[in-house]
Amino acid sequence: MHGEPNPKGEVIKLTDGTLTEADARAMLERIRWPHGPQCPFPDCKGEEAYRIEVKPSVRKSGKPIGPRHIFKCKTCKRQFSVTKGTIFEDSKIPLRTWIMVMYRMCVSKKGVSAHQIHREFGLHYEAAWFMCHRIRYAMQEKNPGQLKGIIEADEAYIGGKQRGHPTWKERIQDEIKMGLRAKRKDYRMDKAIVFGMLERDGKARTMHVDQATSKNLPTIMRENIDLKNSRLITDAHPAYRLIRKHLPHDVIRHEVEYVNGDVHIQGMENYWSILKRGIYGVFHHVDEEFLPCYLSEFEFRFNRRKVPDADRFYDLLRNVEGRLAWYLQPSSQA
Ligand SMILES: [Zn+2]
Repeated sequence: MHGEPNPKGEVIKLTDGTLTEADARAMLERIRWPHGPQCPFPDCKGEEAYRIEVKPSVRKSGKPIGPRHIFKCKTCKRQFSVTKGTIFEDSKIPLRTWIMVMYRMCVSKKGVSAHQIHREFGLHYEAAWFMCHRIRYAMQEKNPGQLKGIIEADEAYIGGKQRGHPTWKERIQDEIKMGLRAKRKDYRMDKAIVFGMLERDGKARTMHVDQATSKNLPTIMRENIDLKNSRLITDAHPAYRLIRKHLPHDVIRHEVEYVNGDVHIQGMENYWSILKRGIYGVFHHVDEEFLPCYLSEFEFRFNRRKVPDADRFYDLLRNVEGRLAWYLQPSSQA
């Protein structure tokens, strides 16, 4: 990933806003198809395609039509543009804006809110929000392998009261009114639970879970950790007890100490502090529904923290294939 060959000055254009639409298109063509254009239709995937020059013309109405940049597949004969089958497909926002926003999201450590994008790029808030979510989709790890080595695992509680939902106090009062026995009184009832695993000095993997107990965590860990080549470190949470028979497991008892030799989960604590500062400071509130998207974004940046900003960006640009299958509703705050 280091020393990516790229035309001189490209990164400067990304930051000073002088990137043109032609620059953006050329950049996407080069990154997406390093060996020449390929058919993007999933039922064909033809390896050979050629460029069709469509000169600018004027419609009968007198409206000018700009030059179009189209390719044609030699196998299926269908025409397509470089954005076909990517997160940019069908977007009315210029490709140069997409690319500059992607760069912004890659270089800012805590993330950029849709409000910032809306102000900086002069887009409608809803468009900016939608765009950020499509970019987060591209940030998802597509082929996550198993983590190995020294693995720190921990859980974090994110967020507060959900809009339109009662607080836990209100819920308990309702349950008492209905004659039910109130559930465990816990501040964490209003928070979303995130489970995280981190290779020491390596990759992090986080996920939104509906509980953090011995019912679900051991299964998640067995799927995500190479048990034969790893050693697990956690705090004394009882959810981690059952995993002990599958791999070496050390426990740091936080009521006694935070570090004991190499037994600690400081890396994971550091990750949570970056995530929480980002979510509370930049995004203010994240709907639980979209939390996995934000988790992907933080993970993407963290797992590439040792590579230069530009390489992190080119890596994201290589990942733009695939479209969102789900419908996104703009959120009023995130
Ligand atoms: Zn084709």
